[in-house]
Amino acid sequence: MKMESRLAQIGSLEDPATGGVSFPVYHATAFRHPRLGQSTGFDYARTKSPTRSVLESAAAELESGDAGFACSTGMAALQTIFALFAQGDHLLVSLDLYGGTFRLLEKIMSRFGVTASYVDTNDLDALESSSRPNTKAVLIETPTNPLMMVTDVEKISAWAKAKGYLVIVDNTLMTPYFQRPLEQGADIVIHSATKYLGGHNDVLAGLIVTKGEELSKEIAFLHNSIGAVLGPQDSWLLMRGMKTLALRMERHRDNALRIAAWLKEHPAVAEVYHPGLPHHPGHDVQKRQCSGDTGIFSFKMKDARTIEPILRHIRLIAFAESLGGVESLMTYPAVQTHADIPEEIRRAVGVDDRLLRFSVGIEHVDDLIADLDQAIQAAEREIGGGSR
Ligand SMILES: *Cc1c(COP(=O)(O)O)cnc(C)c1O
Repeated sequence: MKMESRLAQIGSLEDPATGGVSFPVYHATAFRHPRLGQSTGFDYARTKSPTRSVLESAAAELESGDAGFACSTGMAALQTIFALFAQGDHLLVSLDLYGGTFRLLEKIMSRFGVTASYVDTNDLDALESSSRPNTKAVLIETPTNPLMMVTDVEKISAWAKAKGYLVIVDNTLMTPYFQRPLEQGADIVIHSATKYLGGHNDVLAGLIVTKGEELSKEIAFLHNSIGAVLGPQDSWLLMRGMKTLALRMERHRDNALRIAAWLKEHPAVAEVYHPGLPHHPGHDVQKRQCSGDTGIFSFKMKDARTIEPILRHIRLIAFAESLGGVESLMTYPAVQTHADIPEEIRRAVGVDDRLLRFSVGIEHVDDLIADLDQAIQAAEREIGGGSR
């Protein structure tokens, strides 16, 4: 079946007791054993829980993987994956990384002797020269945010396989609807399902999908041992959101592309970072490895003084941290999502005080452009029209 059909029908055939088309929320944490040595398949809910299991099977299938694991947040999913590594191990990680992942690696994993080098993961020479005898994995975000740097997953996976490295892809921004890294050679996909998969800015969740029996067993062991699992109510809420993923992603994509093109022509805007625009350096790779573009992009104003008034004047678009929901949100990465990344690294990749990130919702595109237009005009008036 096509992905639209699979998404709409998540859990709809799974409740034999009643035939309910929405899978029930099972709150039970303990399950009766029929007799000694027998199990219904469920023993204790941290290990396996009915509502969560339906979500996990759907996630595995959508990402073309072998096993899925639902975690309490995206960070919990990353922590569970990082527990694959041991003292002395080294990781190669995308530059312009999600701030929380950087913080987890630098402030916590470093205490356990796991180190990371931050490189442009689309640059084989840079990857090669940052490789060490103790390197164990490559962690890729593609596109990254806020700068939307694109990595060729197939190319990097082939390189990493030859070295014996694991390839982990954070697929939060694209979702399996537009990009399936396991089909392109990656071993593990992780999601902050809080974003597009949930889609309504109302549930925190993380997902892991693995390829291969051994790796799936290893992650199952860590998922159960660490215990940062997703609860039944949130599992249900996430599935409810995922049913409309296809429709939402198409609207997010269309709206974002329209607005990015409008901003590109705006005289107060210095640069627009959107892989769907032909001038973007990752445009060709993105087109080849994805079936569409995500709904988030960034743009740089010419004058940093316009940022504060723009954020104060937007009305329909909320000045808020996060992305991927039906409501449009605007973020100032330098002081919000990327505040934990040291200033020299932030500036080196281009996350400076003129950059805004826009998670475009599913509102009518004309209303979004009108809101942005009035906010930029008001900002320019306030600073005296000198921003161009
Ligand atoms: C939000 C996010 C995370 C962290 O997920 P949470 O659900 O907030 O814990 C990880 N990676 C990316 C790309 C994100 O956007």
